[in-house]
Amino acid sequence: MEAVPAAAQAPAGSSAPAAARAQAVEAPVPVDDGSRAGADRAELLSRVAAEVSACVKCGLSANRTTTVPGEGSLDAPVMFVGEGPGAEEDRTGRPFVGAAGQYLDKWLKSIALDRSQCYIANCVKCRPPQNREPHPEEIGACLPYLEQQIAAVRPRLICCLGRIAAQTLLGTTSSLGALRGRVHQRNGIPVVVTYHPSAVLRDQSLRKPVWEDLKVVQRLLQP
Ligand code: SF4
Repeated sequence: MEAVPAAAQAPAGSSAPAAARAQAVEAPVPVDDGSRAGADRAELLSRVAAEVSACVKCGLSANRTTTVPGEGSLDAPVMFVGEGPGAEEDRTGRPFVGAAGQYLDKWLKSIALDRSQCYIANCVKCRPPQNREPHPEEIGACLPYLEQQIAAVRPRLICCLGRIAAQTLLGTTSSLGALRGRVHQRNGIPVVVTYHPSAVLRDQSLRKPVWEDLKVVQRLLQP
């Protein structure tokens, strides 16, 4: 039996033209020289959160309740990246705290991880209306924040949760099905692609492939 837990709820999700995704990854990317000390890295994360809290770089700022910059350990070995905040995240300012987030917590537990050991973020830091997919220009405006978070945390591994995160971070228009099942590289960091928890809540047949992906995550995190 696969170890990814079953779930009963199915929150909203969406899809959008894949070609638009490539446009989003052309945003300017800050350079990580790999030499930042811990205090500098913590300061960078704080600065990103502060900048995000005041950000009006895209139209998603108009309808947000609060920004959702991301959270987790500065020394997290793995960073999980999703698409964007949902209603509960918009209300609380914390990533993955709704039904999908609770399901993600179960995934983490299945591979002996705790949320506090990880860093969790999204491609856009403000909730898209009605949980629609973020538009390419919105992702392009917001991506530098995620780039800086990656530079600060310097994870050993990134796990993309869903097609939007995978296409954004890998700079591709390939389908999620084509991207999962192998380990990618992004600026020297291994990247694993799996389904978004929301998708698995809607379609429990995805539990088995997700478990396969989580086992890869677990294997890559072994010392
Ligand atoms: S989604 Fe990102 S770029 Fe757009 S307003 Fe929010 S923080 Fe700024």
